[in-house]
Amino acid sequence: MSAETFDITILGANSAVPAHGRHPSSQYVRIGQDALLIDCGEGTQMQLKKFRCKLNRIAYIFISHLHGDHFYGLIGLLSSMQLQRRERLLTLIGPPGLDEIITVQLKHSQSALEFPLRFLAVQPTAKELLVEEPSYRVYGFPLQHRIPCTGFLIEEKTPFRKLIKEALEADRPPVEVIKALREGRELPDPETGEVRYPLSRYAYPSPQPRSYAYCSDTKYFPELADMIRGVSLLYHESTFSQIDAQRALETGHSTTRDAAFSALRAEAGELLLGHFSSRYVDLAPLLAEAQTIFPSSHLSEEGKTFIPKVR
Ligand SMILES: [Zn+2]
Ligand SMILES: [Zn+2]
Repeated sequence: MSAETFDITILGANSAVPAHGRHPSSQYVRIGQDALLIDCGEGTQMQLKKFRCKLNRIAYIFISHLHGDHFYGLIGLLSSMQLQRRERLLTLIGPPGLDEIITVQLKHSQSALEFPLRFLAVQPTAKELLVEEPSYRVYGFPLQHRIPCTGFLIEEKTPFRKLIKEALEADRPPVEVIKALREGRELPDPETGEVRYPLSRYAYPSPQPRSYAYCSDTKYFPELADMIRGVSLLYHESTFSQIDAQRALETGHSTTRDAAFSALRAEAGELLLGHFSSRYVDLAPLLAEAQTIFPSSHLSEEGKTFIPKVR
């Protein structure tokens, strides 16, 4: 089964505080029938509304770490889901302690969530599978920040095959055979067991499944590349310009050059910069710095949607 829909809408691209019209970290990823919310900084639910992202589509919320700019929007969003009478299961994946924070907030406001909420505490020390769905998988992997921080890798499963039109027109296989061929399967004849319509005659080779890596707050470390090698689209924080590299070192963050080197090393298809420090009003110089090392770099712009490309 293929995910087909796979895109990432930027909801927040700033670091610690909201500034210059930019919000703290959050992204809305649509994959297949689901949406995944990655990080939920303050103001996320307003951004979701502004960019018409459906709350009920969200199946999972991933929180990378417990710095406020990555999760202070969570209790507000959960409360709104309750007010909207959500019924669907929501899985919250984040650092140990996050469930306690939510529970305390609900307790003292004498509120309760009536929809099923499942919490999965994660603090991976190596790349590990967190979510297995029919059309996609999500892995977690460790980053290197001031407090434990997790990156997330979303991979679609084998995409639909493109079919060879001429062969289909010549032999006209039944509809169920065409459906199976698209999914990369061969249907044996129910009576003879023989495969009359081989995949190799009717379908082009399967394209590489697409993937998206979210590297939240982290300093540069070379081993990161091994956990996300060949990723189609890499989001890597780039809080600072190269000029402020010393500040990046002191705070456990990355510069534009660090992000670009990670993309190069991981052989990523494209790079998305984000988590910008409020000290920069104009982000064009940051983009230029990254592009000198990794030309396919882009800025995370709020409201903009990015699609991982087949490679
Ligand atoms: Zn942050
Ligand atoms: Zn942080």
